[in-house]
Amino acid sequence: MNYMSPYVIIDGSMQGIISGSLMLFALMFLSALFLGRLWCGWVCPMGGLQETMEPINNKSINGKKADWIKWLIWIPWITLIISMVVRAGGYHSVDLLLDTQGGISVAGASDRPIIFAYIIYYFVIALFVVLSIVVGKRAGCHTVCWMAPFMMIGLWIRNRFNWPSLRLKASPLECTNCKKCTTNCPMSLDVNAMVQADKMENLECILCGTCVDNCSKNAIVYSFSKGK
Ligand code: SF4
Ligand code: SF4
Repeated sequence: MNYMSPYVIIDGSMQGIISGSLMLFALMFLSALFLGRLWCGWVCPMGGLQETMEPINNKSINGKKADWIKWLIWIPWITLIISMVVRAGGYHSVDLLLDTQGGISVAGASDRPIIFAYIIYYFVIALFVVLSIVVGKRAGCHTVCWMAPFMMIGLWIRNRFNWPSLRLKASPLECTNCKKCTTNCPMSLDVNAMVQADKMENLECILCGTCVDNCSKNAIVYSFSKGK
């Protein structure tokens, strides 16, 4: 979890150190160039945690109202990181275990009692859990996730250059408009409309494959190809 920390990268940048979280965010950006937001759909523990809350609240999120919020957080945060690096005179060393004593997330040190590590850890967990319980499906991904923008920028670049990558492909003629894909999309996308428009690219799509699994007509499939 510490490698996903929004603070470790700040601490590292202040000291001109390339931290584990900086490396992880860079890998997320690079992976999005060829694999889209596969991380969000298949690997991210925060995403999985939020999906376990769906039996409590599986209300869809209105993306138009919610999706911009994460940019309101991300832009000042990344600006702060860049200004820290500039003040430190750039990056001059690498410490992938910075602030991660013993290589694990929740660990204390002589200068940092373990209670602080637990407070930060449980605050982040609670933030994502409470948002998904109160607001709806994967609300944290839409509103507060500081990692999603790295992948969305990667996706945006990929779509500009349109090189082959993992994506969804639709067959509108096979679609019977049953809307199971829309109902079950964990990112609350109108997948049925995307299929009908034959336009499956959406920066909020996490390539989780739920729509692929739910479509009995095989109107949606994974594809490693060029496309829009
Ligand atoms: S699940 Fe398949 S058939 Fe049903 S609306 Fe979605 S794409 Fe169309
Ligand atoms: S459109 Fe399909 S793959 Fe994308 S987030 Fe929704 S269910 Fe997952």
